[in-house]
Amino acid sequence: MATASVPWKSTFILRQGRRKPEPMKPKYHIQTYGCQMNVHDSERMAGMLEELGYEMTETAEQASLILLNTCAVREKPEHKLYSELGIFRKLKAQNPDLIIGVTGCMAQRDANEIRARVPEVDILLGPRNIHHLPRLVNQHKSTFTDKHGKSTFEPGLDLLSDPTPVTPVRRSSSVSAFVDIIFGCNFKCTYCAVPSARGREVSRNPQEVLDEIRQLNDLGYREITLLGQTVNAYGHDLEKLQDGARIDFAWLLEAINDINPRLRIRFTSPHPMYFNNRLLDTIAALPSVCEHLHLPLQSGDNDCLKRMKRTYTIEKYRGIIDNLREKIPGVAVTTDIIVGFCGETESEFANTLKACRDIRFDLAFMFAYSPRHSTVAGTWPDDVAAEIKSRRLNELIDLQNDISREINYQLAGNIFEVLVESISDKSDAWLFGRTRSNKMMLFEGDLKTYPVGSLVRVHAREALLRGFQGDAVEVASSPLPRRIMPLHVL
Ligand code: SAM
Ligand code: SF4
Repeated sequence: MATASVPWKSTFILRQGRRKPEPMKPKYHIQTYGCQMNVHDSERMAGMLEELGYEMTETAEQASLILLNTCAVREKPEHKLYSELGIFRKLKAQNPDLIIGVTGCMAQRDANEIRARVPEVDILLGPRNIHHLPRLVNQHKSTFTDKHGKSTFEPGLDLLSDPTPVTPVRRSSSVSAFVDIIFGCNFKCTYCAVPSARGREVSRNPQEVLDEIRQLNDLGYREITLLGQTVNAYGHDLEKLQDGARIDFAWLLEAINDINPRLRIRFTSPHPMYFNNRLLDTIAALPSVCEHLHLPLQSGDNDCLKRMKRTYTIEKYRGIIDNLREKIPGVAVTTDIIVGFCGETESEFANTLKACRDIRFDLAFMFAYSPRHSTVAGTWPDDVAAEIKSRRLNELIDLQNDISREINYQLAGNIFEVLVESISDKSDAWLFGRTRSNKMMLFEGDLKTYPVGSLVRVHAREALLRGFQGDAVEVASSPLPRRIMPLHVL
């Protein structure tokens, strides 16, 4: 007998002596591109869909709802979107009930183009409006359809609405959690598509943020990454507390540290403009804040920084890093760099190489400039030839990789406290974790001896590009009690 058309799972529940079939859930599939904010938005959309009764599938072919959570920062993911949509429209031709949604920054910026190129897309949802997803799924093809049967109701693209972040979340890790603290961006970096897709800055209510972190702490999460495009702008738009104190990013870090000083706190991405001494002192003083700073530099040349409208100089940036290293010995510093920006000369690029040599980043994310529409630089000539961009990018990557390896080589031999995250994808006999300085650590062991979420002291035996291979020395502390809750409402 064919089973494909039977809407029941083959698993049965035994109740009062009878076997009752469990209804089969519709499946959703999400593909995510881009930054950690997008990864977390996908976790939230997954949580909302599971509350609607959907369950996750890794294979698009099995899904009755597919979401592509897009990124507009560079051109490459844009091409990927249309090639993926080409595959999904074929699936829809076979299954007209399939719902296809495009979410994220491209949905916000390029809604009309997506609609025109792929009319099969049913839902368009910008990053500011993801809480509308359940309503859009429910309303899809019902009340709000035009004569062609297309959904015409799109609350999902209102860039001025206040994001309401309290939604269910299906977290992909049971140890490490992302927490949004500020949405949007008020900077106007001339190359960047983010402000046009995510709108102006809106800080989340501090009580709401602290409640979420308290819940995560109670659930046994050991690491929290605070998210925002300019995470240290937190609080600029919030009113003062009753005692007259100003709420800012340093205040928030202190309040989180008070919840549990043994939590590991990370944050991404801060902007150099908002890095003052009060913030540096707070980071240095709080035991929960990890010894790692990701501070995007973008260029090592002041003229180029000016054209990028980054609002700081290389001297100011260096000052922050020097102060930080003085206050937190051993702190790891990572960055983002763009090469081949409009008008970048050989000597400007040489200044970026020099900055990397002088500052010695532990790691850098390095990109060739990619012109974006609705940015200021998008109207300027993209005048660094593709071969030159590519040559500069390779030169920078080679230099930075040498520096990363050298730093890790110098650190090898030390013992690090590692938070166990998973079995390594390289071998079942190895575990994967991170040091407080965010270096990856691979070490031999099994999850019985070193459960996910445990802190293990590991001797770094061999340096790798992004971390070490090592040997466990001892369990630093037993794991906190953990309730098994793959889905929880925050
Ligand atoms: N808000 C962060 C900041 O202030 O730098 C970064 C946000 S952006 C999503 C992540 C990184 O993408 C940037 O730091 C930059 O290096 C890179 N990026 C942004 N726009 C780009 C473009 N048009 N071409 C190449 N890289 C770009
Ligand atoms: Fe983009 Fe600049 Fe805002 Fe970062 S600070 S999101 S690079 S505009």
